[in-house]
Formats: sequence, structure tokens, C-alpha cells
Amino acid sequence: MSDPTARVSVADSGVDVVDVGTLPPLGVVPRRMHAQVVRQSRYGDPATAFAHEVIDTPALGRGEVLIAVMAAGVNYNNVWAARGYPVDQVATRQRQGEVEDFHVGGSDASGIVYAIGEAVDGVAVGDEVVVHPGVWDENDSWVQAGRDAMIGPSAKIWGYDTNFGSFGQFARVQAHQLLPKAPHLSWAQAAAPTLVGTTAYRMLHGWAGNTVTDGDLVLVWGGSGGLGTQASQLVAAAGGRAVAVVSDDARGAFAMKYGAIGYINRREFDHWGVPPLVDDSAGQKAWTAGARAFGKRLWEIAGGREDPAIVFEHPGASTVPTSVFVCRPGGMVVICAGTTGFDAMVDLRYHWTRQKRLQGSHGTNDEQARVYNQLVVDGRIDPCVGRVLPMDDIPLSHAQMGRGEEVFGNTVHLLGAPDPEDGRRD
Ligand code: NAP
Repeated sequence: MSDPTARVSVADSGVDVVDVGTLPPLGVVPRRMHAQVVRQSRYGDPATAFAHEVIDTPALGRGEVLIAVMAAGVNYNNVWAARGYPVDQVATRQRQGEVEDFHVGGSDASGIVYAIGEAVDGVAVGDEVVVHPGVWDENDSWVQAGRDAMIGPSAKIWGYDTNFGSFGQFARVQAHQLLPKAPHLSWAQAAAPTLVGTTAYRMLHGWAGNTVTDGDLVLVWGGSGGLGTQASQLVAAAGGRAVAVVSDDARGAFAMKYGAIGYINRREFDHWGVPPLVDDSAGQKAWTAGARAFGKRLWEIAGGREDPAIVFEHPGASTVPTSVFVCRPGGMVVICAGTTGFDAMVDLRYHWTRQKRLQGSHGTNDEQARVYNQLVVDGRIDPCVGRVLPMDDIPLSHAQMGRGEEVFGNTVHLLGAPDPEDGRRD
């Protein structure tokens, strides 16, 4: 990562600011830009934590690139950033030497390269790109040793841990994050899937010994959501069978449209959350009956007494006990979040005797992002756009996401693109 104090402005002094939905001439960078900004004094409900402001266009440092954002995808991480919980991102960055007292989030973008910082090769002004969310310090000794960069101590998520993500007209990225935009997609479609898709790719293909293979049964929580719709498609692309978990039939139908072979409505069960402790025999019996009934429903969809080789987890506290219970011996519960809570419980008796793996997973490295993006470019993965909204609905979409509403694929906001269909090249 660049030294924050060594960045230089790339703005053209002749242009102050341009309207949302328009672009300055290629390569001309305005001094200021429109952005949806979170400030510490507004932390809380995303509906009011974000506000439209005009702020200085970000400066660039070594290895960095400025892109004009055409469209920005919404992810749950900026619900957390808007709440200032569990991490106060502004305070965290200030402790690390950054000067800004605000957060411009946004971890998915489609856009056009407008300016290039020092020591960047293979990127040109005018390139049409999407952005993967993994960032790290090129001087990190872990990265320099050639290890998985996303595990290194400097690894961060762009537009969540870092400032100047895609919710402003110009975004600052590290050059290695750039990927070619799929020509057949509009700007809006292209901005939708990369964060959730690359995360799902790493979860399903990144953990040797438990990668998804032909015929595998995979249980996918939140099957109609951003991660879930990508996961089911990736499972199908690998020859596996995804079973989605959802909370109503409309969400189930949506999950099946994107590759799931069937769905379980979690509202039909009530054993969620931390199970009764081991010595509570009656409580354990009741909890186990609930978890078994859930597993039986899975068998009905699988067409036999088959347990999942992989459980694709992110709800966390509410569902981890069930995920570990139903996972097949030698299988893996792979988890990237704890949306319902961080205090999950694992009954270790079953965990070790049945030799299951509980694997954390976070973000993506460059190689995984490139393989995933090629699947999108080849038309094998649908970006799964739920809806396209104007820039000033960014507070609304995050508030709805935080309440669990509108969970149908990915929401996208238009910034530079004038309309949802713009940007297709064939
Ligand atoms: P999303 O589109 O809002 O989907 C969330 C899903 O969770 C919904 O489909 C919902 O489905 C399900 N859900 C909500 N409450 C639940 C409960 N009590 N039990 C079971 N399922 C429940 O969000 P997303 O983009 O998929 O992201 C999900 C989480 O993953 C977020 O916390 C996000 O921050 C995290 N994430 C982490 C990474 C990473 O790299 N670590 C990357 C991407 C996302 P139903 O209500 O229909 O069941």
C-alpha cells in the first residue's frame, strides 16, 4: 500500500466538478467529485449515515490507478461501515496515518481508467475495467515471499477497509485489482458480481482438500442473496449440486433460477442459534431433532441420504451449529461472515470424531479473481443484477440490506453511466 503522505494530486486545474451521469474528456480529472460519504457523526442507520457531498478527488500514490466509476455494486460490508460497527473505519485509518475524516465506501465498480500513478505497468488510460476487492502492501514480507496475499498481515478489503471506493465519481484502486470488463455486459451488470463472486470462488475452490468437484452436494445459505446466487452458479459450473437455504418461496424460486437444484425454507424450522449446552439432555434432544429434520429435508432434495461435502456459510451464530451438524464427515463448513452474530458454537464431539473442517475465508487473491472474472467474461456466470438505482439511493439500498429486505441478487447504483443499458460492446 502506498505511503498515505506520498500521494500526489492528478486533478486538472481547469475542471472543478462534473455532473453525475456525465464524464469529463478521457484522462481529464476534475478537482472535486460527487460522492456518497459516511462520517463518524452520522454512524448508525445507513439511511442517514450516508450523505451526498462534493469532496476532493483522491490523489494517487505508487502502484495506484484512478478510475471513473460508471456503476457501483452494493455489498453488506458498507452496511457495517455505515454503522461504524464492529469497526470504526475512519478512526482505524487515521491511526494508520490517513488524513481523511470520512469514508467513501463501495467495493464493486465498473469504470474507465482516467489516471495512473507511479510504477504501474500494463494499464492504460481508457481501459474498461472492473475491480476486485483484495488490496495489500507490495512490501509485505508475506506477499513478497509469494504466499497467498489475502492472508498476509497487510491484506484489506477495498472500499471497506480503504477509502475512496466506488461510491464516488472517481475511485482509487491498486493496479493489480483491475480486471477486464466483460464486453457483453452493461456497466450496471459489470459492477454487480465481482466482490461476492470472487469471495464465493475462493470459498469453493481455494481450500485444497475440500474444493468443489463433480457431483458434490453443497448447502448454500442465503441462496437468493449476493453471495448465494454466485455460489450456486459456481457449484453448478464445477458439476456440483447446490441446495439453497432461503426464508420464503419467492427467494427459493430466485435461487433455483441461478443454479440451485432445490431450496429449504428455513422458516419451517426453529432450532436456530446457540444450542442448549451438552449436559442439558432434554434441550440437546430437542435441538438435535430440529437439526435432523433440517438434514432430512436436504436428503429429500438430494434424492438420497447424502450429506453436503461443503456448507457455504455466512449467517454465522444462528446457523453454524446446524452447518457443522449436517456437513458430511471429512467435509468443510467454509465461512466468510457472521451476519447474525459472531458467537457461534461448535459441538466439538462431532467436529473431531467426524473430522470436519471449519474454514475461514475472506476476500480474494489476484489469481482467484482472474479465474472468476474469466467465467463472467465467458458468459458462464450471470452477474445477477437484482435492481439498478441512482447514486442517491445508496443510503436506501444499504438500509434495506441491513434489514434483510430486497435480497434478490445484487443491487447496483449508476454514477457515470447515464442509464442501465449503457456500456455493452456487442
Ligand atoms: P445479502 O445479499 O444481503 O444476503 C444475505 C443472506 O443472508 C440473505 O439471502 C438471507 O437469506 C440470509 N439470512 C439473513 N438472515 C439469516 C438468518 N437468520 N439465517 C440464515 N440466513 C439468513 O448479503 P451477501 O452479499 O450475500 O453477504 C452476506 C454476508 O457475507 C454479509 O455479512 C457480508 O458482509 C459477508 N461477506 C463477506 C465477504 C468476505 O470476503 N469476508 C464477502 C462478501 C460478503 P434468507 O433470509 O432468504 O434466508
